[in-house]
Amino acid sequence: MNHSKRLMFVFPHPDDESFGTGGSIARYAREGVAVHYVCATRGEVGSVEPEMLKPYEHLPADQRLGALRGQELRCAADKLGLTGLHYLGYRDSGMTGSEDNRDPRAFVNANPGEATGKIVALIRSVKPQVVVTFDPFGGYGHPDHIFIHQRTTEAFQAAGDPAQFPGAGEPYQPQKLYWSVFPRGIFKFLVRLMPLFRRDPRKFGRNGDIDLLEIVEHDYPPTMRVDVWPYYAIKTEASKCHISQISGGPAIFDRLPRFMRRRLNGYENYRLVEPNVNGQRRVERDLFDGINA
Ligand SMILES: [Zn+2]
Repeated sequence: MNHSKRLMFVFPHPDDESFGTGGSIARYAREGVAVHYVCATRGEVGSVEPEMLKPYEHLPADQRLGALRGQELRCAADKLGLTGLHYLGYRDSGMTGSEDNRDPRAFVNANPGEATGKIVALIRSVKPQVVVTFDPFGGYGHPDHIFIHQRTTEAFQAAGDPAQFPGAGEPYQPQKLYWSVFPRGIFKFLVRLMPLFRRDPRKFGRNGDIDLLEIVEHDYPPTMRVDVWPYYAIKTEASKCHISQISGGPAIFDRLPRFMRRRLNGYENYRLVEPNVNGQRRVERDLFDGINA
């Protein structure tokens, strides 16, 4: 199929595409947009049930989780309807201060120019009109999330410049850059909700490495939201592919009344950063608003 609209998401881990933006990917893919996911690592770091690694015992120990998570991402890509899945080939950096964070193969230890150049090459080859990455705090402060934000921002600015990365293909300038963001209201709500379920808001997420109190301090208000409620079932299916990353605890969201779930899960939020809107709130309903495809 010849797609006239092309959309590229750039994040560091298998699961970032589904948990954060899965509804948007499902929606745009079904509207005929070619949606590509550029994933910097295979998510090699983190705890996982040893049972899940059994099929990968023939691999070196430090490659098993990456192999599993690569399979999980392949599963999610099929559910969401991704046109292209591209790895940058780095290793998950884990959280600051961890052993994995010092691994020379870790994404955060990559030569920044080299990593940016790989994204430039993909932008020039796929030619997306719209590129999406994380905000400067990477959503919740994960070092890989912050690093991918910096590299993607550089790549967006360099891709159209023939003087930069001349070996990475013909220059091509995407028209818009968005950050995937989460309205802080939801986190403020979670900070109040979690203690009711005897959960510590400073230790959120499967690996307990998400500090909700710090997150609410980094506020990047959305400039638009995509209604993904009709695609929420697909997003849920894709998220379930990432079974190694899903907490076994009770699903807080499932216990909420429907009108609250619609509000919390029915939209995915974005902040337009290029073209620069000079702080003005530009009303958009679609990532492709104003795009000449
Ligand atoms: Zn991630």
